[in-house]
Amino acid sequence: MEDWISIGYLLSAALFIFGLKKLGHPRTAPFGNQLGAMGMLVAVVTTVVSMQLAGNAQWELIIAGLVVGSLIGYWMAVKVEMTGMPELVAMFNGFGGAASALVALSEIQKYISNADLVPDGLELTVTMIAAGLSALVGWMTLTGSLLAMYKLKGGIEVFGKWIRTPTWGPSWLNPVKVLLLLSVFVMIFLSIEEPTNQNYLWGIIGVSCLLGIVLVLPIGGADMPVVVSLLNSLSGIAAAFTGFIIGNSVLIIAGSLVGASGLILTFIMCKAMNRTLLDVLFKSFGGDGEKQALTRTKVGSDPDEVAMMLDGAQKVIIVPGYGMAVSQCQHAVKEFADLMKEKFDTEIKYAIHPVAGRMPGHMNVLLAEANVPYEQLIEMDEINSEFPECDVALVIGANDTTNPAARSGEGPLAGMPIIDADAARTVVIIKRSLSVGYAGVDNDLFYMDKTMMLFGDGKAMMTGLNTAVKEI
Ligand code: NDP
Repeated sequence: MEDWISIGYLLSAALFIFGLKKLGHPRTAPFGNQLGAMGMLVAVVTTVVSMQLAGNAQWELIIAGLVVGSLIGYWMAVKVEMTGMPELVAMFNGFGGAASALVALSEIQKYISNADLVPDGLELTVTMIAAGLSALVGWMTLTGSLLAMYKLKGGIEVFGKWIRTPTWGPSWLNPVKVLLLLSVFVMIFLSIEEPTNQNYLWGIIGVSCLLGIVLVLPIGGADMPVVVSLLNSLSGIAAAFTGFIIGNSVLIIAGSLVGASGLILTFIMCKAMNRTLLDVLFKSFGGDGEKQALTRTKVGSDPDEVAMMLDGAQKVIIVPGYGMAVSQCQHAVKEFADLMKEKFDTEIKYAIHPVAGRMPGHMNVLLAEANVPYEQLIEMDEINSEFPECDVALVIGANDTTNPAARSGEGPLAGMPIIDADAARTVVIIKRSLSVGYAGVDNDLFYMDKTMMLFGDGKAMMTGLNTAVKEI
């Protein structure tokens, strides 16, 4: 029967790996997701069967866990708005890290009282190191992720500006972070020397929680997506350590896959924002974190005026951003593209910035939902050279990702690659006001002579524009 358990774990690991492979392309991603879910089901069933065979399956707890977990998961999946996804992902990362750390904690307590329980091929010392590292990564991921979640939500009222401010991180905090990290390693060493002294374990948990907070506290603005992705990677690493402690191969494999893919995504995002990971973690970002005051004004246009300008346009590049997600106007955007094609045979493309919106792939998901063909979604690096020959860049609720301030060497956006919408012959921007984007920086693009501002909610403006185009 042992062989069947191993085969079950092997199958689930294979499903995870093939699932990840399929997630690499938007067209195959839903199938990849299903493969991953199936892999998880096989892993759970295999684990439960192996527990039953070993005679330690506590069915009341298992069923209660499955029922409560499934209900909460279903409720969250139904209730969450697309715009709330990053917060949900951050929360899942945190709970994943904490769950791994809790399992490691409960196992290590057993091993300390009875060294015979340590899985074959391992020594108590090794499991103590793995438990310490699992606690460090797991608890740090929990507090860091919860803080990231509240920062993404816009801060907690009770802490007000103090916790919202992205740059709350005086330079003396950096040595403190290093000291906290070193103290955890010292406590792991001491816990090996004196396994029965539980105080070290509690100390590791306390300091790791604090470390998560001081690491995430100074990070904000445009760097937040990188942090969420890094925390995702850490939650996988915590799971891998725990897999090692309980001798569960599939947990080691799944944890390593999450750890590696999260890290790869982290570096891709760092590259997209022209930041190094060390800069993200240790350098305060964006002056004092306040939103820049607006001193300029701009007269708005109306949909009829914009439709007249669009008459006969040969090439339009649509630049979606967070505002499209908020107003859920992706279907109206698709209708606009169809209308332009039908009426003027206009070539339509979509310029996708890697961090547009509030989560990686945010724009792709929304536009795919509206049945926009994948071929029309073009990555920033590829499409930027096409703007000078495009008649109109239609910017819908995007701000930071089009802000020319990023090309200067200063400010919160400095160095971040942007969509070159300002190179188009005419720029049309749909947003409700001149207000700043996520990083809090005023945008010169709004004030250019060739820019027409359509002030209003994305959906209302796109619907108005579609009506006006139909009437031409
Ligand atoms: P921004 O967040 O810079 O700006 C979005 C704009 O949308 C706002 O200026 C707002 O202007 C407008 N808007 C809001 N609601 C509506 C509405 N109902 N209708 C029309 N417009 C609306 O968006 P970008 O996508 O350009 O940039 C994303 C930013 O978020 C980057 O700084 C990125 O680093 C950060 N980020 C990205 C994550 C990711 O993984 N993608 C995760 C977390 C943060 P107004 O109020 O005037 O309408």
